[in-house]
Amino acid sequence: MTTILMASHQDPVDLWRAALAAEMPELEFRAHPDPGDPAEVDYALVYWAPHGLIASLPNVKAVLSIAAGCDHVLADPDLPPGLPIVRMVDDYLAAMMAEYAVYGVLHFHRNMHFYRQEQLKSQWSRGWPLYTPDTAVGILGLGAIGTTCAAKLGELGFQVHGWSRGPKSVAGVTCHHGADGLEEMAAQCRYLVCVLPLTPETQGIINTRLIKAMPQGGYIINIARGGHHVDEDILAGLDSGHLGGVFLDVHNEEPLPPAHPFWLHEKVWMTPHVAGELIPRSCAKSVVRNIRRIEAGEEVPDLFDKARGY
Ligand code: NDP
Repeated sequence: MTTILMASHQDPVDLWRAALAAEMPELEFRAHPDPGDPAEVDYALVYWAPHGLIASLPNVKAVLSIAAGCDHVLADPDLPPGLPIVRMVDDYLAAMMAEYAVYGVLHFHRNMHFYRQEQLKSQWSRGWPLYTPDTAVGILGLGAIGTTCAAKLGELGFQVHGWSRGPKSVAGVTCHHGADGLEEMAAQCRYLVCVLPLTPETQGIINTRLIKAMPQGGYIINIARGGHHVDEDILAGLDSGHLGGVFLDVHNEEPLPPAHPFWLHEKVWMTPHVAGELIPRSCAKSVVRNIRRIEAGEEVPDLFDKARGY
């Protein structure tokens, strides 16, 4: 018998139970706070699990993240070192993230922010559109999600650039890498979309330096983690006019405190960390695929790499 324990304060337990049962009927499903005998638990399926929970499972073989990023697992000070952590890599998650990236880019590209303001003043103001094939979008992060965003934006006719840690080749994408590559890319892009993992190297990467590297009036869409952007630098960029606007799904502090200046800033558009939801009926396939690989002693490509930090 293989047993999985789910612990998440926000994911729907009943949908996960049903989705896992459909994919792997022989899997015993349990949910925190009722783990049964902790010694029977083979896998912990978690999102921000209570600290110490994973350490209380003496025979757990791997942590399965209910998120593409593993920051929520690593935040547990009692996490047993050396325990494998498996990222969530799911086509539907990548597709949802790409939908949001497309929406954010088109919002600004088709001047919806301007037309909304004009509407609220009962003003019939017609602007002149930009020519999409002359307009470049830069994707920060060219992984599972970034390449999907790049493909969808490319289908719309944008010039697509992408930035990764190491050199990469992606069809239809002008690829950049390394510190110089980021500024080289930013200088050409009216829109930047961030889908990086949060690591010590990418923390605060959306800062004054990057903003100044962009053309005047550029836009930033951050759908990765709030730690990527420096709030004060975004506000300074918006208030100076160098940045035309930002679309933020993620924040340095979540929930964003009611007094934060982003809430009422006319150039800030935001959502409460909903760019990519983990839909159980799709993600359960990824979870079961990885459990089967581990049980068979096979390589797990979705393993979190502790040395790289993602
Ligand atoms: P992947 O691990 O597949 O891809 C990460 C990409 O980022 C790779 O291209 C990698 O480069 C690049 N990268 C990492 N570090 C650096 C660096 N220092 N400099 C330049 N490039 C770097 O991740 P996913 O695409 O699956 O997910 C990305 C992130 O999106 C997640 O970590 C998560 O935080 C966020 N996310 C947010 C959601 C939301 O709802 N807001 C939902 C889902 C994900 P290389 O190719 O060279 O390795």
